[in-house]
Amino acid sequence: MTSDVGLIGLAVMGQNLALNMESRGNTVSVFNRTTSKTMDFVERHPGNNLKACRTLEEFVDSIKSPRRIMLMVQAGRAVDAVVGQLVPLLDEGDTIMDGGNTYYEDTEKRAASLVDSGIHYMGVGVSGGELGARFGPSLMPGGPPAAWAMVKDLLESIAAKAPDGEPCVALLGPGGAGNAVKTVHNGCEYGVMQLIAETYHSIRRILGISTNEIGHIFESWQNTELSSYLVEITAIVLGHSDEDGEPLVERILDQAGAKGTGKWTVEMALSIGAPVPTIGAAVDARNISSTKEERVAASTVLDAGLLPSTADEESYVTTMQEALYCAILITYAQALSLLDKLSAERNYNLDLAAVASLWRAGCIIRAGFLDDISKALQEQPDKSNLLLCEPFRTEVANRLPSLRKVVIAATQHGIPVPAFTSALQYYDAYRTATLPANIIQGLRDCFGAHTYKRTDRPGSFHTEWITE
Ligand code: NDP
Repeated sequence: MTSDVGLIGLAVMGQNLALNMESRGNTVSVFNRTTSKTMDFVERHPGNNLKACRTLEEFVDSIKSPRRIMLMVQAGRAVDAVVGQLVPLLDEGDTIMDGGNTYYEDTEKRAASLVDSGIHYMGVGVSGGELGARFGPSLMPGGPPAAWAMVKDLLESIAAKAPDGEPCVALLGPGGAGNAVKTVHNGCEYGVMQLIAETYHSIRRILGISTNEIGHIFESWQNTELSSYLVEITAIVLGHSDEDGEPLVERILDQAGAKGTGKWTVEMALSIGAPVPTIGAAVDARNISSTKEERVAASTVLDAGLLPSTADEESYVTTMQEALYCAILITYAQALSLLDKLSAERNYNLDLAAVASLWRAGCIIRAGFLDDISKALQEQPDKSNLLLCEPFRTEVANRLPSLRKVVIAATQHGIPVPAFTSALQYYDAYRTATLPANIIQGLRDCFGAHTYKRTDRPGSFHTEWITE
């Protein structure tokens, strides 16, 4: 009997995705470069409809035509290696789905190279970690509609379901559109995680309360507008005790790792001139955190130049809660605006309401407010930024004084809050009708004859600024 689907790459994500597919009634052929892992995986799940394949030829022959094959291997060269070996074995009409965190430009190139062969190529962003992969990830596919028609049922069956029962998957656009959305999802994740870390740091330093107590604060925020997966697991991480009962998190080295999708988001944004300062600040914050030895040395020699605190300690937790929600919304606004600009640049025709909708469940940045974001974007398609859409325009406006207070208090205390600060700066820059970019233009024209435009008449102008 032939299998309904094939999956290549049996590390943590591939194994869980294969089990998810199998649990939805599919027979799944599996293959891994290291055969022992294939055999071990299938042996650990006896009775399941998993078919272990030792060679790619056996794997391809075992799948129903037209074939549907999901790759869950390391992004980059591994994908090229697997696609290179696989394609000569496939037939016209077969579909390859790359489910890894692949750079969207790489998917564009691979898809373009396969057009003449008639083999469909899709980049499918998968979010939700191993649990998501096993029980329902948020899926962000991009590729040709003909391929989507082939895999829609399969992807809808394995995807997370939003509270209204809708599967968290939709064809987002052609080529690398799905990978681009997944990358920006991860960038947003970087921003929100950094805001959460800064919230912890500020409360700890300004109120001097314990990690456990801060864990309880995060727990209580789950019943508010902040309700989200990242806030939920922050409460769990802060509440987790080491063997001796002390908070484990206080013994974790303060050097943040990264696999590069935050950097890709910033690179993507820079390449098309879209501002994502909070995501950039989060990437920089991880980079600064990795310079542990230098920071330890600098902490003994650099003065703080502190100012008297004006923080109202009585209401500080509420202020922090409002500021966090406000800054998180501003971060989502940056991410969505980046996708909007990328979509225009690449003709992806992204439906941002659909993007927000499939982020509602299964993925790391899932949050209660995404339902309203999706509705707002659907109902107000003429607005160029989430910050202009109601009810978010008002929600942010109501909390801005808190965001300002949090940035001021942290600055007075010498606590680094780059994500909060950049969110506020983005907002202030975005709402400022006249920025001092006229000075930049004057200077550019002065030293490099780069020309400038005037506010009072059309055309390009150059001035001889320095006369002998
Ligand atoms: P890894 O990214 O660690 O990749 C390991 C898999 O890639 C193994 O199956 C390995 O085979 C295979 N591989 C590596 N190099 C080659 C090669 N040259 N040829 C063939 N196969 C190769 O696995 P994960 O499960 O963590 O992630 C899979 C993909 O999903 C990645 O792109 C990742 O970024 C993405 N992802 C991961 C998430 C996570 O939480 N881990 C979440 C969302 C997406 P072998 O066993 O032979 O070494």
